Amino acid sequence: MEVKDIKSITNHLLKVSSPWLVSKIDLQQQNKVIDIFIDIESESKFSCAECNASCKVHDKVMHRWRYLDWFDYRCYLNVQVPRTQCPEHGTKILRSTPWGRSGVHYSYLFEQLIMRYCAEMSVSAVSRELGEPDNNLWRVFNYYVKKAIDNQLDLSKVKRVAVDEKSQKKGHTYVTIFTDLDEGNVILVKLGRKKEVFEDFKKWLVEKNGLSENIELFSMDMSVSYKAGREEYFPKSEEVFDHFHIKKALNEAVDAVRKEEVKYVDDLKKTKYIWLKSPQRLTEGQERKLNDFLNDSSMETAIAYKMKTAFDQLWKVHPTKAEPLLDNWLKNALISQLKPFVKFVNTVRNNYKGIVKSIKTNITNAIAEGINSKVQIAKSRARGFRSMDSFMAMIYFLGNDFNYNSC
Ligand SMILES: [Zn+2]
Repeated sequence: MEVKDIKSITNHLLKVSSPWLVSKIDLQQQNKVIDIFIDIESESKFSCAECNASCKVHDKVMHRWRYLDWFDYRCYLNVQVPRTQCPEHGTKILRSTPWGRSGVHYSYLFEQLIMRYCAEMSVSAVSRELGEPDNNLWRVFNYYVKKAIDNQLDLSKVKRVAVDEKSQKKGHTYVTIFTDLDEGNVILVKLGRKKEVFEDFKKWLVEKNGLSENIELFSMDMSVSYKAGREEYFPKSEEVFDHFHIKKALNEAVDAVRKEEVKYVDDLKKTKYIWLKSPQRLTEGQERKLNDFLNDSSMETAIAYKMKTAFDQLWKVHPTKAEPLLDNWLKNALISQLKPFVKFVNTVRNNYKGIVKSIKTNITNAIAEGINSKVQIAKSRARGFRSMDSFMAMIYFLGNDFNYNSC
């Protein structure tokens, strides 16, 4: 196509058609800005935002949207948005035009660009890249994530669910994250970590085409409130305590033994991570030190460490052997008389069924860990932004493959 003038190329690229028309293009070379003005043909009619009836135009309100850059120029659309005169609803502004929504700073295409950038970098980085205030960007981000949750989240096939608590900063407000264990996506983020989050989840299932009767199991930590919530709102489901949280409790027991012993064994000072890190992640020096410790059969921390390793092995044995081996392990842990381990034995006994189920089904940690690392990114991306809503929206965003172009 041969272009005769800038107006016709603008018309073509912006897909401006009757009753809309490009009325003026203003090029400001000094500050590198293009302002495109779009008006409406006289006598044109528009649909009422409330009832869709075809109405006369009452008046027009100028709206300015940032559009995609044109070469190295910032481009803005200045649109005379009509307000319709509806016999029933009076004067109403159009909710949207072909280029953007009323009441926001950016055109649709620019909003989509924001969402694509947000997938690759933090909102503050997007803010620097585009030269737009991050408050505005967060507003766009939260709006589109909410819309995607409304339109694209479908829970009709959810059967197995992981439940986990997270906080934006240590010790701050907690959220509970529900994840579909089979699909691996985040299906609900709720403020708090009380048992009532399970009631919320039950309601949410109904809202999103799911069925609470379909939920077979919850994989979660051993917290009293989660256990009570599952029991009360999903009594037919099974509880499984995920390996990750059991391991954490066990690591705490090892560390408690070390803390007690370090008081009279100087060699144990500054060795915390040698005992807690997985062996593959130790440096050569740390590995040598660990082996020296383990050769000393009188050292309580070494005994604790060996028990931890043996416990981990339970996840690797044949499911039929899991239960007798676990019972045997519990017996030995009691014989050790290490206080933190006696406490851990009690925890296991109180949660026996869910732990055995965890060993037998070997529900993978991969999903939980995947979500963990995404929440970690969400934390850093929402840092400095006080709104909890944004942190929660970021968890949904990173935990789902929503399509933001069709929103
Ligand atoms: Zn109307």
